[in-house]
Order: sequence, then structure tokens, then C-alpha cells
Amino acid sequence: MFAKVLIANRGEIAIRIIRACRELGIKSVAIYAEEDRDSLHVKYADEAYSLGAGNPAKAYLDIPRMVAAAAKSGADAIHPGYGFLSENPFFAAVCEAWKITFIGPTALAMQKIGEKAPARNRMIRLGVPVVPGTDRVVESPAEAREVAERIGYPVLVKATAGGGGRGIRVANAPEELVAALQKAGEEAGSLFGNAGVYIEKYLVAPRHIEFQVLADHHGHVVHLGERDSSIQRRRQKILEESPSPAMTPALRQEMGEAAVRVAKSVGYTNAGTVEFLLDNDGHYYFLEMNARIQVEHPITEVVTGIDIVREQFRLAAGEPLGYQQGEVELTGWAIECRINAEDPDNDFRPSPGRITDYREPGGPGVRVDGYAGRGYEVPAFYDSLLAKVIVWDRDRPRAIARMRRALGEYVVGGIKTTIPLHKRILDSADFRAGRTNTGFLESGGLVGSPSPLAGQVGER
Ligand code: ADP
Ligand code: ADP
Ligand code: MG
Repeated sequence: MFAKVLIANRGEIAIRIIRACRELGIKSVAIYAEEDRDSLHVKYADEAYSLGAGNPAKAYLDIPRMVAAAAKSGADAIHPGYGFLSENPFFAAVCEAWKITFIGPTALAMQKIGEKAPARNRMIRLGVPVVPGTDRVVESPAEAREVAERIGYPVLVKATAGGGGRGIRVANAPEELVAALQKAGEEAGSLFGNAGVYIEKYLVAPRHIEFQVLADHHGHVVHLGERDSSIQRRRQKILEESPSPAMTPALRQEMGEAAVRVAKSVGYTNAGTVEFLLDNDGHYYFLEMNARIQVEHPITEVVTGIDIVREQFRLAAGEPLGYQQGEVELTGWAIECRINAEDPDNDFRPSPGRITDYREPGGPGVRVDGYAGRGYEVPAFYDSLLAKVIVWDRDRPRAIARMRRALGEYVVGGIKTTIPLHKRILDSADFRAGRTNTGFLESGGLVGSPSPLAGQVGER
């Protein structure tokens, strides 16, 4: 096992990883943008190195400084977390070159699966269903028009390098196509440095179902069941649950086997997630593979009893998985609510600023992965995720009741958060009946209608 690990990230995921280090007896090294000096991950780690001041948004992307901090501290591995450098094959390759273990897949596997258009092409050859569309980046508006006519409107224009719901535009009719191509391309170009886009049929109100996979360096791959991440705003997940209300044992087996095949086809190692869309007729389609730990990994940990971050360390150190697919069991029901510093009643506008009051929920079956506290100044330069509330109970109705209770205890003063929206989701008849899909928030009238219960403490 490693002696010392550098965590190339910040916020809740940095703390999550440091916790795993501590349990494994591994020394942890934090890095931080100077503007982030007071952030909790800096205090929580055994050592911390500054990435400098003046460019807080770019600091966590600074590969030379990251590697220098690893060398200086004597870290023998780097955990990238999610976002930032986590899916950057060049960073993985630099780590490999410096003989620092990158806790994730190899640069080569990442390269094979990371870009969406070539990944789709690979899936088609593998016989895994993909949403109808192109199998490569489109070269011209004329080509795009041809494809869109063939598959039928509405279509999505998607950035091949996209992530986090960015670089995606809908075209409902031919006259919207050129603008969609332009906007998706521009957004992806400025965010990801790659303006390439491809076309997919826009499925109406599908579910987003993803499978967690774990792969060791000895050719052994298992899946840990599914997460249903259908509740989204602007194509970004906000609430996730495991298992999915739409799942059957037969479909789980089939999709799980597909996910394992996807991982094996690129020689994938470590933890990864294969994302699918599921339509109303039970057909599933490969969407993308996220070659990293995901935000919502805890719900899988809770229903399987497997600590995914600990597994990442074990697998990166070359240890075998040590269990078979049949030994992975899903027990009970888990839900995660993402608590973002955003105003859900004002188009999810970011709500940075000082937290004047803070109390986290607790009690049976409740886990909070966060990093904020009273007096903390939520910065404006980063992802707005403050904390994740994860609950477990024996079945879905009980898990919903438990989450409702936990959110009632949660106090965050001074800034707006997504807590009131989560309460409305949990109270809605459609959610309670498991009638969810990726259009749920936009179509359900839940956004922009303040609940009379919003902001109360410990109600009901
Ligand atoms: P998950 O699939 O884990 O839910 P999200 O899509 O919510 O992941 O993204 C997690 C974080 O990673 C977010 O901060 C998001 O902005 C960031 N992210 C995801 N993909 C990329 C990417 N290709 N480039 C930069 N940041 C990304
Ligand atoms: P990202 O890399 O940003 O996570 P994804 O390809 O995973 O992008 O898609 C993000 C979300 O966008 C999906 O969860 C879904 O809600 C929506 N989406 C993507 N592709 C389609 C599609 N072809 N039809 C309908 N919705 C889609
Ligand atoms: Mg995705």
C-alpha cells in the first residue's frame, strides 16, 4: 500500500479521500489555491502545499505545480478526485512518467474512453446500444443537417469533450441546428479546449441510469449495481438514488454485463462509471463512461457496503478485487441530495458568500459528506457543491422519510442552497411514486415555486 498520497482536488471530495487515507494508514498531502487557504481540506490533511495566488480558478489544473508538490512531499501516489484533472490523460501520463501512481485508469484507457464521439464508435463496434446519431465529430453544418434529417428532430448537439452538463444544445427543427452547433462548439471550445461536436437523437424524458464498475489489474471486473440520476437541473444531477425504481433483476444483469464489457473493451482499471439512458420501453443506450470517482458514489457504498475510495487505493496498488460478481449484494435503499450554494428559485444562480449559521443533520442512517461550516466564505470560483446528504433505509418510502427528516434538521444561514428544492422533490407525488425522468424538474412545476415549508427547522 502507499505511504503518502497527494490529493489533487478541493472541497468535499478532497476530505472524502483524506478520510480513506486515514483509515488505511496513508499520510495525506493537500494542495490549495492561496485563495482557498482556509478551506477545510487544508486543515484536514497531514501536510499542505500552496499552488500560488492570483488564479484560483486555474490553480487546481496546474500540472507542473501539482507534480512538484508531490515530489517535494515524497508522495508515492496522486488521487485526482472528480472534475479538474481527473479525466485528463496527459496528467495521468505525466504521473506515470514521474513514477507517481495515478489513482485511476491508465492514460491509455482514459484516452480510449474519454472522448465521447470515439467512445460511441467503439460501443457500436462492441454491440452495446448507443443513442442514434453520429459515430464521430461532425465536419460541417451540411453533414449535421443530413444526420439530423435521418434520425429525426429533435436532436442534441453534444461536445465530444463535454462534461458536467456543459456543451450540450437542443435543436428542435432544422432552423435551430446551426445556432446549436455554434453554441455547443463555442462553449466546449472555451471550457474544454476542444470544440468538436457530434449529433444524437434527443430522447424524450428518459431515465439516467449509471453502473459503477471496479476493475483490478488482473483482468477482473465487477459492477456494483446502478444509480438512478434522473433528477437533474440543466443536465446536471441534483438528487440520486440506488437502486433505481425502474430496475428489474433481469435488466440489472443485462445492463451490468454491458457496463463490464465496456470497461473490459478498453482495458479499464480502477473505479469508473458507465452511464446509460433508459427509455420508457425498457431500451437502454450507452451515454458515456466517467473515468473517475463520481460525486454520487456514496449511495452505492451504502447499498453494497463497499468503500469505493478504499477500493480505488487497493486496486491502484495492484491488489486483486478479491470477490466475484455474485458476492456483490444490494441491500435497502439509498438517496443522495446535493446541497449546492445556489438559489433554486432564481434559475439556480450561484449564491457564494459567508455562511452565518450552520448545523448538519445526523441520527440513524444519515451521512453527510461536506466541507462547509459556520463562518466559511463560499468562494465564487468553484463548483457550488457544499455537501451531500446521503441516507439509507430498508426500502424507498422509509429512505424518503429519513431524507425528509434529515433535510428538516439542516441549517445553512447567510446563503441560498438547494435544500428547499430537495424538500419539494421529496414531497411530490410523482417522486414518491418513482415516476422520475430527466425532465422531472422542468416539467414538474417544482422549480420557482417556494414551498411554505422552505427554510423551517425540524418541521414535521
Ligand atoms: P458526476 O458524474 O460525478 O455526477 P458531474 O457531471 O456532476 O459528475 O461532474 C462532477 C464535477 O466534475 C463537476 O464539478 C463538473 O463541473 C466537473 N466536470 C465533469 N466533467 C468535466 C470535464 N470534462 N471537464 C471539467 N470538469 C468536469
Ligand atoms: P455530461 O458529460 O455532461 O455528463 P452526458 O452525455 O452524460 O453529458 O449527458 C448529460 C445529461 O444530458 C444526461 O443525463 C441527460 O439528462 C441529458 N442527455 C444527454 N444525451 C441525451 C439524449 N441523447 N437524449 C436525451 N437526453 C440526453
Ligand atoms: Mg454524464
